[in-house]
Parts: sequence; C-alpha cells; structure tokens
Amino acid sequence: MKIKNQLQGLPPYQPGKSLEEVKRQYGLTNVIKLASNENPYGCSPAVKKAITAELDRLALYPDGYARILREKVAQHIGVKETQLIFGNGSDEVVQIICRAFLSAGTNTVMAAPTFPQYRHNAVIEGADIREIPLVEGRHDLPKMLEAIDEQTRIVWVCNPNNPTGTYVNETELSEFLRKVPKHVLVVLDEAYYEYATADDYPQTVPLLFEYDNLMILRTFSKAYGLAGLRVGYGIASEAIIQQIEPAREPFNTSSVAQVAAAVALSDQAFIKQCVAKNKQGLAAFYRFCEENGLRYYPSEANFILIDFGIEGNQVFQYLLERGIIVRSGNALGFPTSVRITVGTEEQNEQVFAALTQLLKEKQFV
Ligand SMILES: *Cc1c(COP(=O)(O)O)cnc(C)c1O
Repeated sequence: MKIKNQLQGLPPYQPGKSLEEVKRQYGLTNVIKLASNENPYGCSPAVKKAITAELDRLALYPDGYARILREKVAQHIGVKETQLIFGNGSDEVVQIICRAFLSAGTNTVMAAPTFPQYRHNAVIEGADIREIPLVEGRHDLPKMLEAIDEQTRIVWVCNPNNPTGTYVNETELSEFLRKVPKHVLVVLDEAYYEYATADDYPQTVPLLFEYDNLMILRTFSKAYGLAGLRVGYGIASEAIIQQIEPAREPFNTSSVAQVAAAVALSDQAFIKQCVAKNKQGLAAFYRFCEENGLRYYPSEANFILIDFGIEGNQVFQYLLERGIIVRSGNALGFPTSVRITVGTEEQNEQVFAALTQLLKEKQFV
C-alpha cells in the first residue's frame, strides 16, 4: 500500500486534553477546561428542550439542505438562503473549500501562526502553502498581497485571529479586498464574530455585494456554545456556493445539530449576556497581566494569548496539575506563551490564583 505523498508524515490534529482524561490522570475532581475557546456558560437553555423533541426522529436522515436552519440564518444575517453552505463545524467548510479550490500546482496564502486547519487541508489537497508571519500578532496584509500570484486560489484571513485574538480592522480589510485579484477567493474566518466588539471591527456581510470572490465563515461552536454538535457555515455569493456544494457530503449536519443551532440563533439575549461577561473577563485578564508585567495581545475573541517568558509547556503543565487545562503556545507557534479561554468569573479567579503561585515560584528558580 502507498498512501498519497501529502499524507506521509502529516500529523493528525492534536486536540486539547479532555476533562475526563485530566481527572483520571491527576486524581482531581474539579477540573476546568479553558483550552478550546468553548463558551463557559454553555448554550441557550432553549436548546435542550428543542433537541429532546428531535430525539423521536433519530431513525430518519436529517434534511440534507438544512432548510429550517438555513431560513433562520439567512434572515438573521440578511442574505439569500442560496448564499449559505452548512458544515459539520466550520472546520468542515474549510475542508470543502480546500477540496473545491486546491490541487497540486496551485497555492494558498495565509498568516502564520493562524488557525491550523487552513494549512492542514491545503496540504492534503497537494497545494503549496505560503505562510506570511504575523507582525506584532497581526496579519501582514500587504505581504500577503505580495505573495499572491496566478496560481493562488485562496487567501485566508482569520478575524479575529486564532491564537492571538487580534483583528484586521475595517480600513485595512477594504484596502486589502480592493487589491486582491479577482481570481482569488478570500476567506474571512469569523469564528469569534459575536465576541468582537471593537468599533472598527469590519461588518463583512455587506461586502459580499461588492466582492464576488469573498466567503465568510461563522460557527455555532464558540459564542453559541454548541461545539459538541458541530455546526458552522459559509456565506458567499450564490455562484460560489453553487460551485462548492457538490464537494459537500449529502447529510453533513445532523438533525439534532440543525434544530439546536436554529433555536440557539433565536436567543440573542443569551449571546449578548455571554459577550458582556466575556468583556469583563478579558478586562480581568488584562489587569492580571499588567499587574504582573506579562505581555499579551489585546483580544477581540474569548481567549487571550499571554507571554510568560518561559516555555509554554511548563506553564501548561503547572496549570494542568492544578486542574486547569489551557493550550500551550508551543504547539501554536508561540513557544513562551499559553492561550487561555476566558472562563466564568470564578474560573478566571482560579486561573489567576494558580498563575500568581507559579510566578512566585518562578522568582526563586
Ligand atoms: C474554533 C475555530 C473554528 C472551528 O470551529 P468549528 O465550527 O467548531 O469547526 C474555525 N476557525 C477558527 C479560527 C476557530 O478558532
């Protein structure tokens, strides 16, 4: 047997540690997970009731076109139903886009470090990857433009960027879009859209009417608190959606997930609350960093990347042993940082207490 070249030596995705795994390994009962940017408040309480009703219909295939969810999302964001594509998480939409646009001999442009699934899927399709280093944690859009050539098929803008939490503003984005050649698809990954509150964070849906080479990705995994059910979607011109639809599996989003997402979307009061509490949590993290002289990137998302000046793995391990799971920057391209999801007030206090202890111990080394 011989697997295709691109897969040889390609490591599978390394997920953050699970709660159960850590409880067992360290004999802890109280473990918190602040590693994958999930919503610490769960999802809208209306979701549970709605999916219970759905349980009587599990023998049936889901609606492959996700009609009800599609109507709701289209209405909510103000686009046509035919401008949407749903995926088993926006991860799957990334995969569909790569399948549809990339092959050997083409290339794709992205920031580095950024969300790893752009690169991963592009590698599998055999495309060349052009990674443009972040500058002070932010996308270097002029350099990304320079990297585009005739063979470029996709350019990725993760906004806010994972793992830095930084964002591309309205002016920077418009200038960039004006200059990107029309043969290149621009993907704006807005997984943390709901959390972004900066005045100049771009509202991109109206841009779809100006640019037909644009695609926006959003998800129900982060602010909507439905990461376990896997629903994300892409928004683009009707023409793009029509062209990539054949690369989508027929029943890629489950019936339960579709119902949950539709109900969650209707509860905007829940989202508003979560976003407000996230802002307070971020402010507490900023204060903590400033009091302790730690460098961080101001974040428009629900996580923060903090530089400790020592191996990220060391900070990760220290917190892990105290029942706090975070993401080490070693795996994210920031070897002296860790990425921490903003938790509830109580969870954040737990993090600050453990970190204070760590910083004290570090002084003695
Ligand atoms: C979490 C995340 C996603 C993936 O979300 P799913 O919808 O759960 O697949 C996509 N992009 C970025 C930048 C993310 O951080």
